[in-house]
Amino acid sequence: MRFKRTAVDEFELIQTYFVSTDEGSGVVTGIGDDGAVLQPELGRELVTVVDTLVGGTHFPDVTDAGDIGYRAVAVNLSDIAAMGARPRWMTLALTLPNADAGWVGRFAEGMRAAAAPHDVALVGGDTTSGDCLVVSVQITGDVEAGCALHRSGACVDDTIFVTGTFGDAAAGLGLLAAGTPNSYLSSRFLRPAARVEYGQQLVGCATAVIDVSDGLIGDLQKLLSASGVGGVIDLEKVPVSSELQAAFAPDEQRRFALSGGDDYELCFTAAAKNVPAAAGIAVTAIGTITREAGLVCRDHGAVVPYHDSGYRHFR
Ligand code: ADP
Ligand code: MG
Repeated sequence: MRFKRTAVDEFELIQTYFVSTDEGSGVVTGIGDDGAVLQPELGRELVTVVDTLVGGTHFPDVTDAGDIGYRAVAVNLSDIAAMGARPRWMTLALTLPNADAGWVGRFAEGMRAAAAPHDVALVGGDTTSGDCLVVSVQITGDVEAGCALHRSGACVDDTIFVTGTFGDAAAGLGLLAAGTPNSYLSSRFLRPAARVEYGQQLVGCATAVIDVSDGLIGDLQKLLSASGVGGVIDLEKVPVSSELQAAFAPDEQRRFALSGGDDYELCFTAAAKNVPAAAGIAVTAIGTITREAGLVCRDHGAVVPYHDSGYRHFR
């Protein structure tokens, strides 16, 4: 579809901001044809994920274009990480209310900042005008055949682990929306650090993995039910950052950490002795897999009720 009433047209936008001189490995045909042609490696399987961000729903309207571009890539990298895969190629479907060249330039720069460290090449997409901003990024990765990680493999007596800290992004989003951003907490929402390398390190060791996008309690429950097991976690072990502790009272910290979304950390199960160290990020044991279905939350040993099951659309 062509833009009307705008300074730059679709073709110019793509040429200027999305075509890269560096095509990326395994790209036989990139941007410019009717489809991308990609060369998978022998003995590896493809893993494909897609995530859509809608302006005003998934981020405040005032969000900087660079942050939107970064986040649109990072949330997909996090799904790739949870599958134990290596990200390789991405496509972008972009719907814009107006084709402002400066905005698109900053957006493309944000996408590149998230993708380049992982050598992910943009190989195609679609650009349309529409009433509201919609960004849909799709990433394809690969993993050694038969080795992809799933939500469904947790075994009784496995330890439940998490990477990083929880609650920062939800707290940061609240502060952004209130017009009082905290630079650390807000950047944890705007520029999440997908655990791409660590996800690949978990291949052969984790029994089940999920990336936490909708709140720790809700996403851990998804892993437990996919695996047909139960779990018990110790709430005081759920890691929270010093920045979250400095900005909020303990009960608010806990609410953000357990049911706030957008953390993009990994939650996984493994036999405790098998777990690899992660470069630069904490990996914390928070509980144990049990035979009986359901999640039990303990606070310093006492069982406590906990209901919130995380963010859901259409609820
Ligand atoms: P078609 O009409 O065949 O769908 P388009 O004119 O929409 O092709 O797109 C031309 C080329 O530009 C295609 O290779 C397409 O993948 C690529 N492209 C379009 N929009 C984007 C975008 N936002 N990001 C990256 N590549 C894009
Ligand atoms: Mg075509």
